[in-house]
Amino acid sequence: MAATSNTHDASRQGRCLCGAVRYSFDPETTVFRAHCHCESCRRATSSPVTTFFGVRDSGWRWTGAAPASHASSPGVRRMFCGTCGSPMAYATDDLPGQTHFYAATLADPAGFAPERHDFWGERLAWLPLADDLPKHD
Ligand SMILES: [Zn+2]
Ligand SMILES: [Zn+2]
Repeated sequence: MAATSNTHDASRQGRCLCGAVRYSFDPETTVFRAHCHCESCRRATSSPVTTFFGVRDSGWRWTGAAPASHASSPGVRRMFCGTCGSPMAYATDDLPGQTHFYAATLADPAGFAPERHDFWGERLAWLPLADDLPKHD
């Protein structure tokens, strides 16, 4: 049936650098798509900015090895590949019922369309960004 074959669609899957940690998700359950400029994400990813999409927990599953997890703040879980170290996902008790995946882990990230910037006030000035997306602190 269609729902089963769609789980093999590259637009619905992601993976870490080494391929051990994999996930699939239903794009219909995506709740947001945003860049994050906060200092915590910057340090967690060692990158000036990172980009997430949030998925309802009913709409995704790990399909490879389970990731390792680090509590970067109380109630926050940052999940990463225990083999290669790729950051994979973020979850917080403040936003129950959803998990945020790094858009760069998508099997095919080229078609991803972010909709806003978060923590714009914490951004690094040496990475100029001239898009027209809404910018929130
Ligand atoms: Zn890996
Ligand atoms: Zn952040």
